[in-house]
This record gives sequence, C-alpha cells and structure tokens, in this order.
Amino acid sequence: MITYSDYFEKKEECGIFAIISKKGTDVAPAVYRGLVALQHRGQDAAGMVVYDGKTLQPQKGLGLVSDIYANGLTVSGYIGIGHTRYPTTGRCNIEDVQPSIFGKLAVTHNGHLANYDEVRKMLKNRGFMFTGTVDSEVIALLLSEKMSEGKEAAVRHAMETLDGAYSDGAIEDGKLHVFRDPYAIRPLVWGENEEYVAFASETVALDINGIPYKGEVEPGELITVGRDGKLERREILKKGKRHCMFEYVYFSRPDSIINGKYVYDVRKKLGIELAKEQPVTADLVVPVPDTSRTAAEEFSKETKIRFEEALIKNRYVGRTFIMPSQEKRKNAVRMKLNAVKGLVEDKKVVLIDDSIVRGTTLKEIVKLVRDAGAKEVHVRITSPPIKSPCFYGVDIPTYKELIANDKNVEQVRQFIGAESLGYLSLDGLKRAIGLPICSGCLDEGYPTDYAKKMAEGKKGVNVGCG
Ligand code: SF4
Repeated sequence: MITYSDYFEKKEECGIFAIISKKGTDVAPAVYRGLVALQHRGQDAAGMVVYDGKTLQPQKGLGLVSDIYANGLTVSGYIGIGHTRYPTTGRCNIEDVQPSIFGKLAVTHNGHLANYDEVRKMLKNRGFMFTGTVDSEVIALLLSEKMSEGKEAAVRHAMETLDGAYSDGAIEDGKLHVFRDPYAIRPLVWGENEEYVAFASETVALDINGIPYKGEVEPGELITVGRDGKLERREILKKGKRHCMFEYVYFSRPDSIINGKYVYDVRKKLGIELAKEQPVTADLVVPVPDTSRTAAEEFSKETKIRFEEALIKNRYVGRTFIMPSQEKRKNAVRMKLNAVKGLVEDKKVVLIDDSIVRGTTLKEIVKLVRDAGAKEVHVRITSPPIKSPCFYGVDIPTYKELIANDKNVEQVRQFIGAESLGYLSLDGLKRAIGLPICSGCLDEGYPTDYAKKMAEGKKGVNVGCG
C-alpha cells in the first residue's frame, strides 16, 4: 500500500510556535490555535510542551492538530512551545514527535542540520547517549555541554558546531528562549500584546491569537523572555541573511508575513516577473491549485490573457487516504484535481505552477487538461529549475529525483508533454523577493560550508525537521 502523500512531489516542512504569558495565564489554548494556523507546514504529527513553574508537561500525537487535541487539552502553564511536523529525519513514531524534553530543557525545532550525522557521531564519542534520531536531540545535547557557562555560551557553542537551518524555541529555567541560525534560513517572527510575547514560523500563528506582529528574530540571535515580558536580545553568531526562497514560492501561507514581507505580495511579483520573462500566446491562464493562484492572477493581468480557475481541487482528499500500490500516479492526480471541461475545451491554456521537482505530477496535470479538450497546454513556472537537493529541511532529497538535474528545459518540456515551458529566472526570483535568498537547490548557492561540501560530493540527504 502507498499513501496518497507518496504520490505528490512537494511536501511541507515543520512549523513552530512559542509563547509566554506576562500575566501568568494558561497558554495551552494559544499554542493549540498557533498549531492549527501552522498545520500547512506539517501534517504527520504535532505536539506542545507547557511549563507551569514546576514541570514540563507534554501533549503530543500523530496526525492532524484537530485530531490530536480532539478530547481537549490536558496541560496548562504560563510558557508553551509547540510543533507541527513533517518528518524525514527521525522515525515517524511518537517518541520523535516534538517538542522534545531533555531533563529540564524542552526544545522545538524547525529546519535541518546538514551536519547532523557528523555532530551525532562526535557527541557519541564524547559519551552522550541518544534516545531518538531527531535534530533537536543533537541541539539539546550541545546546549547541555556548555549550559554551566551560561545560556549565551551554550547557544554560541551550538551555533559554532551546527551547520544548517534552525529556527528553534526552548523552555529552560522558567524562561522562554528562541534562536535562529546565523543565516536566518527558516522564518521566525515575533509578536506582543498586553498579555503575551509569542514567536512563530509565520505571522498567521500570531494573527489567530490576536497578537500583533512586531518583527523578526535576527540571524544568529538569541532572545530570552521571562515573566516580566521583557525581551533580552543577544546577537550570538551572525553571518548575514539568506532566507529560503521556497518559503515565498510554495511553503508559507500567502496571508503570512515572513522576513518582513507579505508572502502574498511576493507571489504577485513572481507572476509579474514571469509574465515579463516568459510571455505566451494563449486563451486562458489557469493556476495549478493552490499556491500559484496569486501569481497566475498577476500573470493574467500583465499578459491580458483571461484568468480562469479551470482546475478544481477536491478539498476532502486528505493526505491519509490509502491507494493500492498498483494504481497509477495518474489516478492519484485525478483523485485530487479535475478540469472544468467547458472552460478549457478547444482553448490554448497556460498553466501556472510554482515549481517542478520530479515532473511526474505536472506531466499528469498537463495530460488531464489536454484530455479535457485543451488545444494547447503551455506551462509557466514561478521559480527557476530545481537542480540540487536541499540540506536545510525541504524535502528535495536526491539529485537523481530532480528532473532538472540532468535535463534541460526542452527535455523537461518533452517529458511533461506541454507545447511550451518557461521558468522564472534566478534574477527574476531575486527581484520578486527583494531579500537576500538561499539559492542552494537552484544553483548550488548554499550559504553554509558543510552543505557546499555535500553538494561537491553530489550527496543526497535525509531532510526534515527532526
Ligand atoms: S536549498 Fe532551496 S529549499 Fe533549501 S533552504 Fe535553500 S532555497 Fe530553500
């Protein structure tokens, strides 16, 4: 048996939420709401750890947030951290569901450590025992090595040892701590109101709690907040900003602000840049739901080609349905998407999608539109070709799985069966985002040394938030 999610190419990563109440009120309901808002970043598991001044109380489970907490919250306290999980590092079982507790420390982690194996081996040689296979355990053990010298020294030690992306929250010593890797690869925002100070992967988790967005956790920064609600901010190891471009292209919700920019606004710009770079003669612009809708609308305005929602998604096909393995990928795509025949029949259609990973899903979508009667199917992509793996937590694992790694644009066009194919250029992407980005998976422009070394050896990676 193969699960439905095995058939689709782009998977979410993890989301974190962290909060402290200045009034000493129970934060568990706010953590729950934050996790609901971050559900799109991981649907395999979720959890929270809440601290009441005495104990770290976990409540976690496998599956969707609404199912895990269907029978109510069993934890309460004035500090809480939470996590939604899409795992590939770490086994998919309850022991590895975050947040993780190590003695008096609780940790929630978003990202991926490129040098996880190496650091784990090093710690084992120093006599540390491991209970799981997740990144957060490596981070917690590194912190514990220097905790006696103070939190700043502990976080510096971790940052100097780790190579990769991490936006993490922790509860320790009755305080909330958050820190972000020296390049700020994964997002981490913060907000505050009279009652709370909160941190989250995306602002939607602040919005749902009515907490105004105040700004970003800076690269290599450690922020500590105690009961008085004052932020103690320290720059530990800053190397510059290199934000993940995929957060804007695909992962984050369009109603989120990350790194100071609305994802919605960036997606509009992606559509405008794409229209300028890759114009096409067609009758209809059709987004592949859901991520590319905003860009497709702008592409339509710019090219003056009519916009139509001619691909309809079945909202009730969740990621858990099971298909017999002999069923073809085609059937999986058709379980999820259908074309509005009356719209595409005898029309030249331009499909807008956010990226091509393996190409197999898009090939079936092109066929679906053609089978519905389209005269021509053109494809335009709001990101450049993905040629290399991601070592920072996005599920783009091996070179051989990436169609653009060994095929040029014409060969990819032939594979997906479209009349034409056009990608946004790296310059166009940079213009649309307007911030320094990581472009590792596009041109091997990885910001960190270990990931560069992995790329030189053409090594794939087990990625994920562990
Ligand atoms: S390699 Fe690609 S997916 Fe990974 S962090 Fe960099 S831009 Fe994002």
